[in-house]
Amino acid sequence: MSTATASPNAFSAKQDPEVACGYCSTPFTPRRRWQTFCSARCRTAFHATEARKEAIQRAAPALFEALRRIAASELVDGETPASVATAAIKELRAP
Ligand SMILES: [Zn+2]
Repeated sequence: MSTATASPNAFSAKQDPEVACGYCSTPFTPRRRWQTFCSARCRTAFHATEARKEAIQRAAPALFEALRRIAASELVDGETPASVATAAIKELRAP
């Protein structure tokens, strides 16, 4: 009967556990306890995505109101569906 022994790889895996990247889900070994992304590229992409989500949430009321007004034909004083939509879309770029 053979005796099972821990492999060096198992020991290494215990010392340096892999985690899934918070953006691309690729397994990686963090070099810092707080590291949650496999690369600077993924960290930057994650924060850019979060900023886009926040911009959409911020602009959503204006976008929905614009669509409602267009659908209800509540345009006034030379407004066109395109001008109302364009004005609402600018909310996406507001700080
Ligand atoms: Zn990644």
